[in-house]
Amino acid sequence: MESRRLGRRGPRVSRLVFGTLAMGRAQAGLSPEAGGELLAFARSLGIDCLDTADAYDTYPHVREGLRRAAAPLAIVSKTYAWDRAGALAAVERARRETGADRIDAFLLHEQESFRTLLGHRDAFEALLDLRERGVLGAVGFSTHAVGPVSCAAAALGVLPEDGSDPWEGEDPGPYRETDLVHPLLNVAGVGLLDGGPGDMARAVTRAHEAGVGVLGMKMLGGGTLLPRFDEAAAFALSFPAADAWAVGMQDEDEVRANVALFEGRAVPDPVRERLGRRRRRLLVESWCSGCGACVARCGQGALRLEEGRAVVDPARCVLCGYCAAVCRDFCIKVV
Ligand code: SF4
Ligand code: SF4
Repeated sequence: MESRRLGRRGPRVSRLVFGTLAMGRAQAGLSPEAGGELLAFARSLGIDCLDTADAYDTYPHVREGLRRAAAPLAIVSKTYAWDRAGALAAVERARRETGADRIDAFLLHEQESFRTLLGHRDAFEALLDLRERGVLGAVGFSTHAVGPVSCAAAALGVLPEDGSDPWEGEDPGPYRETDLVHPLLNVAGVGLLDGGPGDMARAVTRAHEAGVGVLGMKMLGGGTLLPRFDEAAAFALSFPAADAWAVGMQDEDEVRANVALFEGRAVPDPVRERLGRRRRRLLVESWCSGCGACVARCGQGALRLEEGRAVVDPARCVLCGYCAAVCRDFCIKVV
């Protein structure tokens, strides 16, 4: 499989990166052993990087994957920490729970605008310090919005075509050191918090021109674009500024199908038909108490309370599973 470097300091990785969110508690609910086996299987087919996060609860799966895989796997992880102590603790937790001494890339999780970037400045500076000490390879952020990607490009001197300043006069400070962005990017803009698909494509292209690595996510819009699979896949694989794509996978069939796709081979018809019949959706169990924590957590505005229960709007939901992580009663699953 083709490989590319994730920015100036990131690892060189296969273009298909294994997204572990889909194997965790909120989705497939694989045991660490089963998840580790799947990661080792993926590694045997050429996938040499995995994407995880503090919030995914998949560090035990990653640890098992590293132990079982016949060759090294690079790690990309993320944290919601906003201050120095939180960021240092998050990196320590990632190292301790995965067993990896060095994390290849560590990102601020889900940045929404230049304001959230400013609010996480202390955490980002702590990640930069760890990068200097060699504990981290590359640093950056993930986002479902165009604005932060424009900010990464502008911080490194590549402004939008109209010359506007996405930082609105604020000093980008440490974000001039951004190595990697992990943006939501797909042919239809499904799940974007601002702008349209063309805006994100242009922002990503500018960031890439500025030397920032790009690890795309949600190329199929969390499954929403499965009916337009060929178009969505062709867009993702031919988009020159996307160095690699994180794709969630839950079983060997999905791994085989995605490896074939990224290697330019036809996905075998029986596998394609089986996967095409799968329609994931968000399930809210009957014992939901209507506490509203999930509604507050969903950045997509896809949840609301109705008659004392959480209700999902499938047109807005990108099946990220983040709401499931905040439900203390385990009412939400992606099934
Ligand atoms: S967090 Fe859980 S219990 Fe609370 S509203 Fe959401 S689904 Fe219901
Ligand atoms: S409802 Fe849950 S799974 Fe859907 S977009 Fe919101 S946080 Fe993600």
